[in-house]
Amino acid sequence: MSNFVSLKRCFREPIPEIFDAARYLDAAVSAHLRGHNNVAMELFALASDPKVWAWTDSVWGKNSPYVIVKKQPNNVLSEKIPSRMPTSAQKAELHKRDGFHCRFCGIPVIRADIRKIIQKIYPTAVQWGRTNASQHAAFQCMWAQYDHVVPHSHGGANDLENLVITCAACNFGKMEYTLEELGLIDPRTFPPVKSTWDGLERINCL
Ligand SMILES: [Zn+2]
Repeated sequence: MSNFVSLKRCFREPIPEIFDAARYLDAAVSAHLRGHNNVAMELFALASDPKVWAWTDSVWGKNSPYVIVKKQPNNVLSEKIPSRMPTSAQKAELHKRDGFHCRFCGIPVIRADIRKIIQKIYPTAVQWGRTNASQHAAFQCMWAQYDHVVPHSHGGANDLENLVITCAACNFGKMEYTLEELGLIDPRTFPPVKSTWDGLERINCL
């Protein structure tokens, strides 16, 4: 018997439907910017794929089979560092460094502010209710988060070196556990994904 446990890049490999949904969203924004609002509306609706919703739920939901915690006996909890969300300046710096992809699983991400702009223009195609079940599957899955790699409860700092851009599933699945407890590789040991995906930010430049 070996104690070796293979480390993972992320809780669950992304499914192809997530990248399909991102292509629909990207095409929807392009259609919107050309004034083709009906096409945009159809594409936004098409991106809300139940398979994408199920992927997110399988990671951040209760009793996820993908989030397995192995408590480390010698972890020292720290309560000295107050929990703080990154400032908007820090968030802008993080996007400059990481782009618009999750540093763990690599999927495209979209800032909540961008989602809210689109929700206002296309309220029927982009629904965002209070419950997980009533939120647009693609915007939920790709909801940009700012994750403390070392959690506050373990002494993690609020500086940029300890922060990475993640998707919703990777961030909420991680909770307050350490990478060691979750069997995850430190995402900072891999470069950010480079791509043409702009997080749909161009809708904000009208
Ligand atoms: Zn992720």
